[in-house]
Amino acid sequence: MKKFIIILLCFFMLKSAICQSHIKLVYNGRNVNVIAAVKKANEILNSKYFYDEIRKYPKFDNSQLSGREIADRMEKANQDVKIARKIKPIANAATTTSDKIKISRSLFGKDATGNFSLSIAVNTLIHETVHAVDFLNTGNEFTHNGNKPKDQENTAPWVIGAIAETMVLNDHK
Ligand SMILES: [Zn+2]
Repeated sequence: MKKFIIILLCFFMLKSAICQSHIKLVYNGRNVNVIAAVKKANEILNSKYFYDEIRKYPKFDNSQLSGREIADRMEKANQDVKIARKIKPIANAATTTSDKIKISRSLFGKDATGNFSLSIAVNTLIHETVHAVDFLNTGNEFTHNGNKPKDQENTAPWVIGAIAETMVLNDHK
């Protein structure tokens, strides 16, 4: 009965939160920069333009999956991903499961001059979201091989993070 009511609600309120089927980032902390970046990242994860941009890529390094296949997985992932604090920052962020992203607040979203950059923070969050979606299955289907820039730039997490960063810089609605 409950399910039936939810289906009915979805029918009448297609945009309501209860019907969201995309992946969604959830942050319960008070850091204003993280709050702003999570809000923007969720807007992007709900944007058709974002998935269309991913679908333009026929392939990525270190993956057998096309942009279309990865976009489909991201778009259909009905998963909440919690943003948690990474205590010992070796890297800015780390994701090893489908439901949690750990970020280091000290490095998160900082540009070369050390100032907070919303576009870099959103890039980081979307990059980690790509890993989280990967972990909905086996977790190694569209990742990068190592952490050196030259091993990463054409991999799905890097390319898709950069798409999100560009959307922020262009203030894409
Ligand atoms: Zn990564």
